[in-house]
Amino acid sequence: MYLKRLDIKGFKSFANETEIILEPGINIIVGPNGCGKSNIADAVRWVLGEGNVRQLRGQKNEDIIFNGTDKQKPQGMAMVDMTIDNSDHMLPVEYGEITVGRKLFRSGESEYLLNKSRVRMKDIVNLFTGTGLGKRGYSIIGQGELEQVLNGQAFDRRLILEEASGSIRFRQQRDEVKQR
Ligand code: ATP
Ligand code: MG
Repeated sequence: MYLKRLDIKGFKSFANETEIILEPGINIIVGPNGCGKSNIADAVRWVLGEGNVRQLRGQKNEDIIFNGTDKQKPQGMAMVDMTIDNSDHMLPVEYGEITVGRKLFRSGESEYLLNKSRVRMKDIVNLFTGTGLGKRGYSIIGQGELEQVLNGQAFDRRLILEEASGSIRFRQQRDEVKQR
């Protein structure tokens, strides 16, 4: 499984449709300060279901929509499509390629898509839980975050290990049963 492609439009500094093609193995993104490198990582977090806009370095949800520059007017919608190569079927679905999409309109309306079909956010979160790409995952480590993990509460560290081992899926299933 590897991250194959990102299509970003109206998300943070990416006003126009931008496609980022990645290769298996290590990919390095370079560029001057403020050019949008971290915004790419934010786009990945967001499409994976990040619900806390502060984690994406914003104050309110609308902050992730391109808000215009001297030359360009603001966008009405942010969208990110993330394509994953799943030819090794590490993700437990039949598809060899999976595209996960998320949209947010200024009205506050939002949309999740899995291979172009509308789904619930929960479906996307469930798909990635326990694969390392899950919400409590370690797949994206931001500046200063390693320190947070090392100095963090035992329970938070435990959740990261559960995500890594895949056993977090059972915790979530148990919690769901308990709620009924
Ligand atoms: P550094 O090398 O300093 O870490 P970077 O390449 O990681 O820089 P980012 O943090 O990804 O840069 O991008 C910051 C830029 O994104 C800023 O110029 C900021 O104005 C712009 N930006 C963030 N949100 C929006 C938005 N909603 N609309 C337009 N521009 C935005
Ligand atoms: Mg940065």
